[in-house]
Amino acid sequence: MPPFIKTNVNDVLDSDIPDLEPSVELKGDLNDLLQAQKNQKPYKIQIVWRNVIIMGLLHVAAIYGATLCFGTAKWQTVVAAILLYVYTGLGITAGAHRLWSHRSYKAKFPLRLFLALAQTMAVQNHIYEWSRDHRVHHKYSETDADPHNAKRGFFFAHVGWLLCRKHPEVINKGKTISYDDLLRDPIVVFQRRYYIPLILICCFILPTLLPTLLWGETLWNAYFICAVLRYVWTLNMTWLVNSAAHFWGRHPYDKNIHPAENYLTVYGAIGEGFHNYHHTFPWDYSTSELGWRFNLTTMFINAMAAIGQAYDLKQVSPEMIIKRKLRTGDNSLKLTIVNASPVVNIGKNSGTNHDHSTHQNSLSPTDLISNTEYFRQMLSNGSGFNKTILFKREDVTDNIVKILRNNPNDLLLTNQTDHHLGSID
Ligand SMILES: [Zn+2]
Ligand SMILES: [Zn+2]
Repeated sequence: MPPFIKTNVNDVLDSDIPDLEPSVELKGDLNDLLQAQKNQKPYKIQIVWRNVIIMGLLHVAAIYGATLCFGTAKWQTVVAAILLYVYTGLGITAGAHRLWSHRSYKAKFPLRLFLALAQTMAVQNHIYEWSRDHRVHHKYSETDADPHNAKRGFFFAHVGWLLCRKHPEVINKGKTISYDDLLRDPIVVFQRRYYIPLILICCFILPTLLPTLLWGETLWNAYFICAVLRYVWTLNMTWLVNSAAHFWGRHPYDKNIHPAENYLTVYGAIGEGFHNYHHTFPWDYSTSELGWRFNLTTMFINAMAAIGQAYDLKQVSPEMIIKRKLRTGDNSLKLTIVNASPVVNIGKNSGTNHDHSTHQNSLSPTDLISNTEYFRQMLSNGSGFNKTILFKREDVTDNIVKILRNNPNDLLLTNQTDHHLGSID
């Protein structure tokens, strides 16, 4: 594991990470909740027609922009639009989401500036508002206080929430969460203060002028492809996280919540579709058990860490993942049994004599869990595991979970490692 990644739970519990555990109210007495809802005034949806018209026109213009890609546009313009989609996407995923909303890693000034510029170009509200909505989403997921409550349907979770007034509960509950850390970042404050001129320049003027000046594209084509089409495409890919990833997919980490592992969103939102994992462990900088695999945003953050721009990357330990899968996972486990795989053999043996250097197959599941360093080493460098299993770290922990399920007595012995697991899960 690269040295810049923290997996120690004590590090994970840094005070700078916002508390986004689902609200205790949600776990409280159902009667209390029902009574509280009865006492509320009936909610009436208020459509904001200005937003409906703007969003409608933008989508029509984006479809027109898509037709230009196959017509008069230069190929450089199409390539530039794709690159800008990735760049603005990173502004949301690596910036507004993983850095500012979750504080799952820290970034130096140049990287924060780079991400803030990309986030401005994405025009999804300024960083402060984006992070505020997102923290409320995690804390009060799938209740009236969730800005894009998926229980109100796919369309509402995707875009409908931006076309009507916020539910009063979003505002009420939103006041209970702290955002002070955001206001301590001068970049966030500056962007918030000059947001309108900044989005006009970053999202519309620059993407229109640059293709015209650099390779002689027409202003018309550059505007509809690099500005409008790229903007609307990025919007929809981001919205998939709130819609598709709250509707369809597996729940290997917590079957009691709606967010799911959704591969359409993984690709569209450059690594953000591992949403069951993310809602279970929101402080993990890679938002996935698989690290950089299938995750362009994690690759980017790793690259930034390698040059010293990103640091204090937080990651959940494999032990905690296994424990959580056992406790609340949906058991949708894919067991990859490969001949001679020590993972399988480990399940058959319960001896305690083991030789780390030669990777004998005499480890019991308990040993595997309790011997943190050995386990971590196996996960990170592949020693002791068949490569086909190791391709997906998720499969390795799935195998171990499966073995532990078949040998529940071994679980009793894992108490000795509870201090590694903290109280988070
Ligand atoms: Zn979500
Ligand atoms: Zn999140």
